[in-house]
Amino acid sequence: MSDVDAIVVGSGAGGLSAALRLTQLGASVLLLEAMPSFGGYMNPFSRKGYTFDTGVHYLGKLAPGGSFRQLLEVLALDKEIAFAEIDPQGFDRYMFPDFELRICKGRPAYEERLHTLFPNDTKAIQAYFGVIDRLLSAFSDPHGPPKTWLDRIRYIIRHPVLMKYHSATYQKMLNGITRNPRLQAALSAHCGNSGLPPGQASAFVCLMLLDHYMEGAFYPKGGSGAMRDAFVAALTRNKATLKNRTPVTAITRKGDRFIVSTGQGETFAAKTVISNVDPLIAFRQLLDPEIIPRTIKKKIARMTPSAGAFYAFIGTSLDLPAAGMTDANIIHYADMDINRNFAAISDRKTSDPFPYYFITSPSLKDPGGGHAPEGRHSLEIISGVGKDHMFKPWSGIASRKRGDAYNRLKEEIGMSLIRSAERYLPGLRRNLDFVEFATPLSNAYWVNSFEGCNFGPDQTPRQFGPGRFVDCKAGIEGLFLVGAGAISGGVLSCIASGVWAAQQAAEFLGMAS
Ligand SMILES: Cc1cc2nc3c(=O)[nH]c(=O)nc-3n(C[C@H](O)[C@H](O)[C@H](O)COP(=O)(O)OP(=O)(O)OC[C@H]3O[C@@H](n4cnc5c(N)ncnc54)[C@H](O)[C@@H]3O)c2cc1C
Repeated sequence: MSDVDAIVVGSGAGGLSAALRLTQLGASVLLLEAMPSFGGYMNPFSRKGYTFDTGVHYLGKLAPGGSFRQLLEVLALDKEIAFAEIDPQGFDRYMFPDFELRICKGRPAYEERLHTLFPNDTKAIQAYFGVIDRLLSAFSDPHGPPKTWLDRIRYIIRHPVLMKYHSATYQKMLNGITRNPRLQAALSAHCGNSGLPPGQASAFVCLMLLDHYMEGAFYPKGGSGAMRDAFVAALTRNKATLKNRTPVTAITRKGDRFIVSTGQGETFAAKTVISNVDPLIAFRQLLDPEIIPRTIKKKIARMTPSAGAFYAFIGTSLDLPAAGMTDANIIHYADMDINRNFAAISDRKTSDPFPYYFITSPSLKDPGGGHAPEGRHSLEIISGVGKDHMFKPWSGIASRKRGDAYNRLKEEIGMSLIRSAERYLPGLRRNLDFVEFATPLSNAYWVNSFEGCNFGPDQTPRQFGPGRFVDCKAGIEGLFLVGAGAISGGVLSCIASGVWAAQQAAEFLGMAS
């Protein structure tokens, strides 16, 4: 049994950043990853000369001074990863039945755009951005995060916006600002990035998601794999031990050490463990129940996972620019009421058109990045299938072993997604050079997310802030949680959780200055 300062379980954005920060702070680190490749949702895959991203399509806060850039500076990766900016005039094109909204870079420009589209709703638009401002001011409170109960009470008194909306859905918050259904649609357009419709998503999560891209949207040059590779190279330079194909099967405690067991029958010991495993799996399947406090067991028993996605990964000979596609993402909503689009996903029959989907093209976002063979393009089309999806009977069966009936169903649903997307890319079906579909079961298999969920626990009001693991603490001394289950889903939050957990782990080890 070998001993290190810290064991990091899982190599998604959270695990890689925790491991890297710990090495910078002087800790010896062992990182254990179940899959052959590192990166989790930052791990791309290649087929027939095309490379596809699984969970990184665009990132915000990367302009100079932005919080993502600052984190990369802390990790000494800011010069190792380059980013291409997506069209600042409109990086997201939201397509409603009778209008298009392009979210653009720069808050004044975006507000102006909304005022032009909704000239009679000036006050509502101002009120909406007022809420964002008050929230940003609460989250960047100069007194820092509250540590004691008294601090918490003072913090809430200083920021009444927290009290007003902490338990509100985004829809409830919007209803208090405007009843204009078109304006509600425009202000909710980006909500899909939370994985939930506005009627269920936390108001705070959706407000922060809009703010996330207000200083522009960026795509890593070379794709998500280039980001992952920069982390792995830095970890190797810093002499961390990285082991892939090493699933962790149990974590327990002996004296002042955690004992981590793997599927290969090895055991490792460390004073601190950082888990990048979905908390619904870590607490239910990996951690010794004897060491989990009752309060955490109760919290986990109440937690619900986010929904998974359905993906079409496409290599095409279609001339995408000629068809009108740019580096901007296209997001289709069949109904102006976004809640109805989400409800319709669960009700749709196999070959029905998709009520909403997201189209993005790595080869257009990063033309020199080797995402597709010369003269071809790569496309990713993503939608939902609802939590009670029809692939569930094949849960637990390994990838490529689910048999013909699963493959036929996947093919039928996938082709109807492509047919739906032909609204924006006519002729796509006649120009398919490569197609592969993926379901929530693919997520469950490749990143070990609970039931194939996209963003860890659902991003509802109850599972935001203290309802999640926002301080990265697992309730067990020396054990920290990072990734989508900690602060929130999204690459930036996961990296932030990694850096924050590493700092706390280093203090626990007596190393941090
Ligand atoms: C379809 C989709 C699109 C997205 N688009 C964007 C986007 O454009 N921008 C953005 O910012 N975010 C996006 N996200 C969200 C973002 O990708 C994720 O929130 C983030 O990457 C998750 O990182 P994580 O740290 O939680 O780790 P994960 O990526 O979940 O990785 C966890 C890792 O732990 C490993 N692991 C699990 N269990 C074990 C075990 N027992 N032993 C060893 N290893 C284990 C897994 O194999 C995996 O490698 C998207 C997500 C999805 C699903």
